[in-house]
Amino acid sequence: MTVTPEIDVDIRANIALPPTDLLIGGEWQPAAAGERFDVIDPVTERVIAQVARGREADVERAVAAARAAVDGGAWSKLSGVERGKLLFKLADLMERDFRPMTLVETLDIGQPLKNPAGAIAALRYYAGWADKIDGRHVSLPDANGRPTHTYVRREPIGVVAAITPWNSPLMTGAWKIAPALAAGCSVVIKPPEDAPLSTLYLGALALEAGFPAGAINIVPGFGLEAGAPLVAARGVDKVTFTGSTAVGRQIGATATAALKAVTLELGGKSPQVVFADADIDRHIPMMARQFYLNSGQVCAAGSRLLVQRSALDRVLEGVAAQLKKVRVGDPFDPRTQIGSLISRKQFERVSDYIEQGRSQAELVTGGNRIGDSGFFVEPTLFTGTNDIVIAQEEIFGPVGLAVPFDTYDEAIRLANDTPYGLASVVYTSDISTAHRAAADIKAGMVRVNGGASVPALQVPFGGMKASGVGRELSYSGIEACTVEKTVSFEL
Ligand code: NAD
Repeated sequence: MTVTPEIDVDIRANIALPPTDLLIGGEWQPAAAGERFDVIDPVTERVIAQVARGREADVERAVAAARAAVDGGAWSKLSGVERGKLLFKLADLMERDFRPMTLVETLDIGQPLKNPAGAIAALRYYAGWADKIDGRHVSLPDANGRPTHTYVRREPIGVVAAITPWNSPLMTGAWKIAPALAAGCSVVIKPPEDAPLSTLYLGALALEAGFPAGAINIVPGFGLEAGAPLVAARGVDKVTFTGSTAVGRQIGATATAALKAVTLELGGKSPQVVFADADIDRHIPMMARQFYLNSGQVCAAGSRLLVQRSALDRVLEGVAAQLKKVRVGDPFDPRTQIGSLISRKQFERVSDYIEQGRSQAELVTGGNRIGDSGFFVEPTLFTGTNDIVIAQEEIFGPVGLAVPFDTYDEAIRLANDTPYGLASVVYTSDISTAHRAAADIKAGMVRVNGGASVPALQVPFGGMKASGVGRELSYSGIEACTVEKTVSFEL
């Protein structure tokens, strides 16, 4: 049942907000120009905070503080064990503040009970790595056959600039700062202008945990005003970005022209490939969840349902029935499954795609706004072909498109027929089909017969094609924040 949102005003009035200034060199500071920007609750469209609006001068101060931290500052003198302890402490403080952090992130994003569990888990995972990053020894004679003592050091890359999106800023932020800090880098993080509060909360807890000045710096602000100068800043050694492909291209170009290391986690248009031999009834709820959770504002959302023709009617009927049951409403209501889109801009974008869907495909269910305040959209399913706009472009809303196929080869061709290659799901009961598809689909992640939509920390995450460059999470995250140096002694 889809419900009209009823808004809990009391809970909103009593949420304790974090500091709203810039965190630079271990101190909260206003922006140099003294400016602030409004942070809006997407559900009520009311201003919930006014946050310092960072610009180039602020970015420069933050990068200088981060440089000092790694160039001989207190942070650079800590051992891996000590860095790990600080990361564990930060995770413990986030667990202590689990409820208030949940309220802040939920208020900021408008999605149901966005708790810090994923961020806490990432901090602990990388806290464990901090004292296990080592180099290697290579047994090697020199050109004259004399023995040498040669070893390879794995060193922190230096200052890491992290830019995050609004759909899960605390978790994506933790995926960036945790490996960087574990490796001994310092960070300057620019949280999204639409949802900066949870990152500022994390900053306050980092100070409480006792991170040395400059290890973690936060510069909230807008993309062109704070993000772009951060990417270009001379003191930055590595840029790690999660966001849209269009912005990622610009960031990648700037960073690589300056020969900085770069990791880009970008958009997606991920296929769910349903073979007729799959246990369809069992998987139908998963097929629906893949594109309505977080109102579809998930980079790895399975927004294209490619279905073998003989199973199409069953899948359309089953998924539509699931979508009709989804409770859309106030994110603070524990019964709510999905909340509001993040902003008016995103609502207009999603509505525009739904209109294009109506003209180019057949609407199966949904397609409407719910209520007239907040940005609630019904979970929506279309059926059509893979060459239309809503099959090719990322919508970032609760909108799926079902496309029929006949043969295995056609399924793979359709699965790979978008600019993106982030994630995918394959449903089949045939183990050979599953393994063949896992090899043939061009995506950073293939899940067979379901699996969590948030990737496990222990395995690499990232995209192919226009979905990104490089990998986050697992030990790959540590490698991405470190450089190797060869040292050789003549003996
Ligand atoms: P966005 O690209 O507009 O913004 C992301 C961040 O980049 C924000 O902090 C923004 O201020 C900043 N930014 C914007 N322009 C910039 C510039 N020129 N230079 C530097 N920084 C700039 O994306 P969004 O709308 O916030 O997020 C949605 C997008 O993020 C979707 O495309 C989604 O697929 C993608 N995303 C990807 C992943 C992933 O891991 N692959 C995860 C979440 C979201």
